[in-house]
Amino acid sequence: MSKQPEAIVIGSGPNGLAAAIHLQQKGIPTEIYEQAHEAGGATRSAEITLPGYIHDLGSAIHPLCMASPFFKQLPLSEFGLEWVFPEIPYAHPFSDGTAIAGYQDIEQTARQLGRDGNSYYQLMTKLVEDWPKLEGTLLNPIQIPKHPINLASFGLKALMPAKAFSKLYFKDEKTRAYFYGSAAHSTLPLTNLASTSFGLVLGIIGHKYGWPFPKGGAKSIPESLSAYYRSIGGKIHFNRNITHMGELPKAKAYLFDLTPKQLLKIGGTDFHANYRNRMGNYRYGLGIFKMDFALDGPIPFTNPLCRKAGTVHLGFTTKEMESSVNHAFNNHISPRPYIILAQNSVFDSSRAPEGKHTVWAYCHVPNGSKTDMSPYIENQIERAAPGFKSMILAKTTHNTSQMEAFNPNLVGGDVNGGIQDITQLFTRPIAKWSPYNTSNKNIYICSASTPPGGGVHGMGGFNAAEKVLADHFK
Ligand SMILES: Cc1cc2nc3c(=O)[nH]c(=O)nc-3n(C[C@H](O)[C@H](O)[C@H](O)COP(=O)(O)OP(=O)(O)OC[C@H]3O[C@@H](n4cnc5c(N)ncnc54)[C@H](O)[C@@H]3O)c2cc1C
Repeated sequence: MSKQPEAIVIGSGPNGLAAAIHLQQKGIPTEIYEQAHEAGGATRSAEITLPGYIHDLGSAIHPLCMASPFFKQLPLSEFGLEWVFPEIPYAHPFSDGTAIAGYQDIEQTARQLGRDGNSYYQLMTKLVEDWPKLEGTLLNPIQIPKHPINLASFGLKALMPAKAFSKLYFKDEKTRAYFYGSAAHSTLPLTNLASTSFGLVLGIIGHKYGWPFPKGGAKSIPESLSAYYRSIGGKIHFNRNITHMGELPKAKAYLFDLTPKQLLKIGGTDFHANYRNRMGNYRYGLGIFKMDFALDGPIPFTNPLCRKAGTVHLGFTTKEMESSVNHAFNNHISPRPYIILAQNSVFDSSRAPEGKHTVWAYCHVPNGSKTDMSPYIENQIERAAPGFKSMILAKTTHNTSQMEAFNPNLVGGDVNGGIQDITQLFTRPIAKWSPYNTSNKNIYICSASTPPGGGVHGMGGFNAAEKVLADHFK
């Protein structure tokens, strides 16, 4: 007979699954209620162009999953998860046909950077060495750091705007543009405090672990997590869109893998008016416009390094990238948007029929924008890969409302569960010693809207589950 659940998780994204697994591992019977027909949230895959072409519907590149202190200790390979490591984690092409590759090896990367090589080498070697001391603090809510000196040294750099940081550390325009490519994942203007932190963390993880992705599609991550969860007694209910606490069984703790806007809509939570007010002030960031292509062959990048890279940052110059994100922040569309592109099928033949390929790409747009960015995205790819357009067999687009229809957590197309600027980076969803607790002692929030924020790492779920264990199951 299955045991009555003592904790209920609402939502089966990476954070919901992490929370449920951690509790279940500690002997607390749990169940998950998920509104979709399958697990994974913004980490799923499907054939959305042509039969036999598997596209990642949300996340596509998973260095954070690989580096996650919680996920890396789970036996996921026994449950079907197999990592694929592209020869080059990421690359940045320029209009003149040259490119910089972000190799896993620091020295190999630095060797391409001319007079910036030494500065890059010194910077990254120290940060990669310090990473084991930093990750515990950076992946958790604000706390007393165990390694304050290392953290202070990281913080002094990471909390600078990317524009100032790249000017301070690098002399060449191309090195600065290459660094911007990772910093712009922040979806923040490159003049904002904290934009550097994304560039540094993604760079460090790229050197330490690479930028891998799962064989067969991003869906292999939630599939392996769900299979492991079930193997230890967990239960997932699909097609259950929760709108009121009364729809859930009685339990000691409820963990919501939702963003603040959605959590506030759930009936029967009895939140205090003050908590509601503060959660109501939570801010969402830019949205995205996403494109998936089925292609008649690999992308014909002019530069050979780009053909060997799992991820390609199409931003070209520092000016263009600054302008792209500034346009979106000022509610405009950039005709030359910065694009994050993944070409998983080049390294994983299970993603497309023989000789054919899949391409995943998105650019940032104002939150809630309905503009069709397809021509701009295709033009940007064509600039680095002449002939690309003529190879398109089929394509699918998702604007911000279509992204939100796919997963209600993507509010206005925001992929990070809320803006990750300096005021919301560590204090999401509100400034509180335990941001996972709500004003109802039985209700918790565990999504990407809690520290450490967006990305497939499950640490928000793990941290929230730790709080539940301490509060209810000592
Ligand atoms: C296009 C895109 C590209 C991305 N690229 C990357 C990448 O390359 N690498 C990376 O690390 N991260 C990436 N991300 C971010 C990453 O996918 C998210 O940060 C991560 O999925 C957040 O996990 P989560 O568990 O907090 O929420 P989600 O994954 O959003 O899961 C929330 C779950 O809750 C469910 N739910 C919502 N409301 C209800 C309700 N009322 N009742 C029941 N269930 C409900 C949803 O259906 C969903 O399954 C990307 C995201 C998107 C959208």
